[in-house]
Amino acid sequence: MRIGRVRVGGRASTAVLRGRTVHLVRGGPLGRLEPTGETFPLSKVTLLAPIQPGKVVAIGLNYRSHLEARVVPHDEPTHPEPFLKTPSSVIGPGQAIVLPADAGRVDEEGEVVVVIGKRARNLRESEVDAHVLGYTAGNDVSAREWQRADLQWWRAKSSDTFTAVGPWIATDLDPERIPLTVRLNGEVVQQADTSQLIHSIRKCVAFVTSAMTLEPGDLVYTGTPGTTAELHAGDTVQVEVGGVGVLTNPVAAAP
Ligand code: MG
Repeated sequence: MRIGRVRVGGRASTAVLRGRTVHLVRGGPLGRLEPTGETFPLSKVTLLAPIQPGKVVAIGLNYRSHLEARVVPHDEPTHPEPFLKTPSSVIGPGQAIVLPADAGRVDEEGEVVVVIGKRARNLRESEVDAHVLGYTAGNDVSAREWQRADLQWWRAKSSDTFTAVGPWIATDLDPERIPLTVRLNGEVVQQADTSQLIHSIRKCVAFVTSAMTLEPGDLVYTGTPGTTAELHAGDTVQVEVGGVGVLTNPVAAAP
């Protein structure tokens, strides 16, 4: 099943996508998804961020191909390396990623994103699946110079618009084999599969819950592969996750 949020006829609603038809449902994406009976062609609705998370955890350095691509080489981390992104930086499909005027280089980071479905604390890896609602696509937009210069990643990773997510939450994916492709202006710049993660999705989620309660709707970004591409105003960046769909965002200069 694919669950999302759409705007249609001037109002926002939770929806379930079947084929190319959007079925509106009552309540939020974490609810019972009871149909209202209203349906629309996918082409007639505006896609919104599928969920507004209470918090966003992101795992750094989780593909060997990305470690190898770094200017400063980094050893393979022995455990997952989570950091936090702010909910205020979240945007949905179609919304512009805005480049801060003084940031210097800003890169895309296409990622597979876990959407938590049930409150989770101190999980074993074998318990993770039962606490996951599904998976979506994300862009962990990163200001590289701020990432290097600042002690904390507050603005490098959480400037407004730096956490793109969507378009749909897919509930039936195998977390060990989710394909990920990133295109910049139509050209493939990153391609991987979650089987290549250094620390698996189940291990990352379990590790986060060893310190921090994950609540329904929280997001866990699972890491970016290979070499990330620099963004410029006027670009279009697309993160495609198999089974989810394509998260498309234009890139704009700060006004
Ligand atoms: Mg990342």
